[in-house]
Amino acid sequence: MPSPVKCPKCKCETLHTQPEPTLQFDRCEKCKGTWLDGGELAQFANLKSDLPNAESLVSYEKKSKLNCPRCEQSGKSHALYEIPYTDDQSFSQAELFVDYCKSCHGIWLDAKELGGVQDVLKKMRIKQKLQKINK
Ligand SMILES: [Zn+2]
Ligand SMILES: [Zn+2]
Repeated sequence: MPSPVKCPKCKCETLHTQPEPTLQFDRCEKCKGTWLDGGELAQFANLKSDLPNAESLVSYEKKSKLNCPRCEQSGKSHALYEIPYTDDQSFSQAELFVDYCKSCHGIWLDAKELGGVQDVLKKMRIKQKLQKINK
């Protein structure tokens, strides 16, 4: 398990929580934000990749104000980028943006964004079910 990162927002040490026995999220006690290393969100959500739509990466031109806490740990300064977290093609209309590190592929979620991610995942599950019925 990689060592815990510092909260990119509050710059304080983050806490570990374990929503799944095999998974360890870095959670900030103060701002309730969550750091996920590359692959962790996919593992949690049972998806092939962390982002439901890999194409959403194309639009990652918007730099976030935050720096990647994982890269910071190894002395590198990488800005996080705001990536639309959506499973459809209308990235410009996406309601949810997550902070993504292009270098280590980690994801930072603000307190309210974790719920948003869960909503997108729920929507995807419903869609998958409907697709099965339609077959
Ligand atoms: Zn924090
Ligand atoms: Zn990084």
